[in-house]
Amino acid sequence: MNSQDNCIFCKIVAGQIPSRKVYEDDEMMAFHDIHPKAPVHFLLIPKSHVDSLADCGPGEQAVLAKMMLKVPELARVAGCGNGFRTVINTGPDGGQEVYHLHLHVLGGPRNQWKVPLP
Ligand code: 5GP
Ligand code: ZN
Repeated sequence: MNSQDNCIFCKIVAGQIPSRKVYEDDEMMAFHDIHPKAPVHFLLIPKSHVDSLADCGPGEQAVLAKMMLKVPELARVAGCGNGFRTVINTGPDGGQEVYHLHLHVLGGPRNQWKVPLP
């Protein structure tokens, strides 16, 4: 299913909904989560809409690899010098709320993280 016409993250990519941008290139974008669960909490997404990790195929192989390889640099620049956590929620039982694939990056002092995690 492709729901990009009514997708909040597609609207962020298009600039129709404001966000606090962390990074952007031709294929991906990162922005701070509106309800952070840790001192550093941003989302990294492919610009091209795909509902979830379970909907990815060979067409998403390259961008998924680029996203994973970009995370450490973005995390370091965002202040996660002591480590970080990456999370991808997938489907209802995975706790996914926004159906545009996104990778959570969380960091900062662990005693300041909120539970439950995203
Ligand atoms: P999920 O549960 O789908 O993995 O996580 C969705 C995340 O998107 C949540 O952490 C939520 O706070 C964040 N979020 C939802 N709507 C917006 C928005 O309009 N702007 C931003 N920056 N984050 C959002
Ligand atoms: Zn979308």
